[in-house]
Amino acid sequence: MTTLTPFSGVTGEHIARAARTFGTPLYLYDQALIEAKCAAFLSMPHAFGLTVRYAMKANPNRSLLRLIHAQGIGIDASSLNEALRAELAGIPAGEIMLTSQEVPASTSQAELEGLLLRGMRYNICSLRQLERVGPLAKKYGLDLSIRVHPGEGTGESASRNTGDKYCCFGVHLKDLPRALELTQSWGLRFTQVHTHIGSGGDPEVWRRNVPRQLELVEKFFPDAQSVSFGGGMREARMPDETAEDLESLGTYAKACIEDFQRRTGRSLRMEVEPGTALVANAGFLVLTVLDKKDTEDLHFLIADGGMDVNSRPALYGSRHPFYMVQPDGAVLSSEYGTLPDHRAILVGTCCESGDAQCLDETGHVLARPMGDAQVGDYAVVGGAGAYCAGMSLFNYNSHLQAPEVLLTPAGDLRLIRRRQTLAQVTENEV
Ligand SMILES: *Cc1c(COP(=O)(O)O)cnc(C)c1O
Repeated sequence: MTTLTPFSGVTGEHIARAARTFGTPLYLYDQALIEAKCAAFLSMPHAFGLTVRYAMKANPNRSLLRLIHAQGIGIDASSLNEALRAELAGIPAGEIMLTSQEVPASTSQAELEGLLLRGMRYNICSLRQLERVGPLAKKYGLDLSIRVHPGEGTGESASRNTGDKYCCFGVHLKDLPRALELTQSWGLRFTQVHTHIGSGGDPEVWRRNVPRQLELVEKFFPDAQSVSFGGGMREARMPDETAEDLESLGTYAKACIEDFQRRTGRSLRMEVEPGTALVANAGFLVLTVLDKKDTEDLHFLIADGGMDVNSRPALYGSRHPFYMVQPDGAVLSSEYGTLPDHRAILVGTCCESGDAQCLDETGHVLARPMGDAQVGDYAVVGGAGAYCAGMSLFNYNSHLQAPEVLLTPAGDLRLIRRRQTLAQVTENEV
């Protein structure tokens, strides 16, 4: 059977079988591709050791966390709940780092204290966090990590630049002296220095951050033993996009760290925190075409999922590849094959004109080449493994959260999250 893409083993037959077995909309993940991506990160060149953490906000499904952790990868958690969720998935707290905008509250003090005692690393992102966490760290003799605001960032959209002057992630340079003063007064150490400059932006900006961060380590952090350069490695979802070359990125960072070692005599371990690059291309969102409508000059395909299952086009204007598959598994068109002249617009069933899987920069729908699918065919959206199932507007218009299915290397389809029920949507209403 023909695969949909050159990089994954997912075929039209897998799509049709998953849809028949579990109904649509559904997310289908390619386990073999996730494993291959993990292996690529773990074999990045490095100077004095490498830790890879999966930014679990990209896709927090328990089965995926276990799968990725089993490859030798730790966890980057963005909230206390994410850290607790990773623990529930069986990941030891010692392999989790918490990097969050949250400020520890008295209500969750016990949970945080428990995680810290079990070995979770806390990445200080603000002075207020330091004021709350510092005394705990002092009480238990724990080392801290610090996220610094690098002053320059990059992202697939402005909303995902987390390093420039328009954002407030990490401890700002002007606050570093106060942070150091506080830690010194408590006898605490920052043993790691962290940045995350944004998601899917310009690889050159990512590179520029490396020596700048090492300069900060040299200037302010005599106790640092490791540096985390964050995630944000660009993935190519569309055929005309280029993915970050991990080999060359690793070679570059390794040279910088070696240079730092020659200058200072200090050997730093490197950490990276990919989310997107580990899982994005392993995910396929499988929809059924429910209806077709033509206006004066546009052909619309109405499918049983839209912004409720993939909000990225509406949020960021993101582009995703499309594949049209017939009920028998035959592939009518693939973004990676020869596309027909026929152009259409794939929309969902939410009551918004922005509920389309392809929008231009102004928020208008954009016709894209794809096979002339019929009602009952499957419309498949690729690049849907990251920030889709975990970040969609899923209950908008009272649509149900869609199920997630894992395609194993042996070709089995395993349900890893059931479809939500209407009773679950309304259960907390009083
Ligand atoms: C979101 C996030 C990441 C992952 O970003 P990707 O672009 O998905 O690789 C890494 N580190 C931190 C701190 C994050 O918030």
